[in-house]
Amino acid sequence: MPPNPVSSKTIKVAPLRCEFCDATVEREFLRHHLAKTQAQLRVTFLFCALFYLCFALSDLLWVGYELKTCLLVGARMGVAATVLACLALLKRRPDSIPFTRVAANIVEVAGAAGFLLIAALRPTEFSLHAISMSIVIIVLYIYIPNRLVYAAGIAAAATALFMLLAWALGNVRSMELATMAALLALTNLFGYVAARRYQILWREEYSAQMVLKNLSVRDPLTGCYNRRHLHEQLLETEISRAQRYRLSLTVIMCDLDHFKAVNDTYGHYGGDAVLQSFAALMRSMTRDSIDSVVRYGGEEFLLILPETDLAGGELLAERLRQALASTPVEHEGKKISVTASFGVASVDFATSTHDAHLNMIAAADDLLYAAKNSGRNRVCAQQLV
Ligand code: GH3
Ligand code: MG
Ligand code: MG
Repeated sequence: MPPNPVSSKTIKVAPLRCEFCDATVEREFLRHHLAKTQAQLRVTFLFCALFYLCFALSDLLWVGYELKTCLLVGARMGVAATVLACLALLKRRPDSIPFTRVAANIVEVAGAAGFLLIAALRPTEFSLHAISMSIVIIVLYIYIPNRLVYAAGIAAAATALFMLLAWALGNVRSMELATMAALLALTNLFGYVAARRYQILWREEYSAQMVLKNLSVRDPLTGCYNRRHLHEQLLETEISRAQRYRLSLTVIMCDLDHFKAVNDTYGHYGGDAVLQSFAALMRSMTRDSIDSVVRYGGEEFLLILPETDLAGGELLAERLRQALASTPVEHEGKKISVTASFGVASVDFATSTHDAHLNMIAAADDLLYAAKNSGRNRVCAQQLV
């Protein structure tokens, strides 16, 4: 579904957690980015599994053949197995954002826990472990795509636990311990800053795409969809969905009455204000993300109402007609009263056997002109069979 009208409010990114402030936009962004996120996760997961397994060789060299080596290798294999299981999970649910998040978190927690266990089992090398810990922190922040708040939480907790282990088991001098803590704190800080840049960059890229997409599918004056979008995508999508599920589809064509006189009396800006106000009224009285309002021509609009039968469409048209007629538009201290005429055409795909839908818009247009010819400010409706 094309995005809603873009405003600076909807594309604002929260500075600390680095997510869109608007939850719907954030969800759309995550969906848009999902394939890329999954591809990055797959590569990183394989790399992590290999990283843990390869270092089993260093266990053998440092510890030798003893029970502890089995524990170390066991811990490494545990992490690798968890990572590979998450890889399988990703393959099974490639279109699920929650599963992707869960997989990233499991790998981050298992990787950090496995590393801490290995460090605890080799307590004489804490200075070396501190170097590996820095790599683990960087991987947590940057290489495993995850929510920044989750990555930061896991990395900070792992760092604190690491310092606790170094203090309790490492037999390191307090000066060394303090330096280690300072370096790891800095690594966390730099990791956060780098991850933050990535998160913001991806969102800025998405915002730019969203703005361009909006420019190409919407009319600048009213924010409604434009006719190009109607013919390129909207109409076909809704007709095929209604056909597939054998649902009703209703379209309403409407046109402001004597609009030329509005322009002549109140000027073009007055006319523009009326168009904007009518468009806002139609958007407010239709369902968000389900119905579509299209600016079909100058002062002519088309509403597409999925899963709506003729009675539903006629009722909406009548409510719109009454709301418009009873609420004058305020412009530069003047009240501009306007009315509109409506043509409502509906097809029930559960019963329709003909290609009635092929001329739905033309039928709604004919009905609109019937409404005009019978006095304007009225609704004419017809079921197409
Ligand atoms: P009817 O009741 O038969 O529909 O009469 P009408 O005057 O509304 O229809 P007509 O087609 O004669 O005039 C439409 C007017 O709409 C003429 C045109 O200048 C005006 N118009 C079209 N687009 C815009 C726009 O973007 N802004 C403004 N202000 N006026 C517009
Ligand atoms: Mg008109
Ligand atoms: Mg017209």
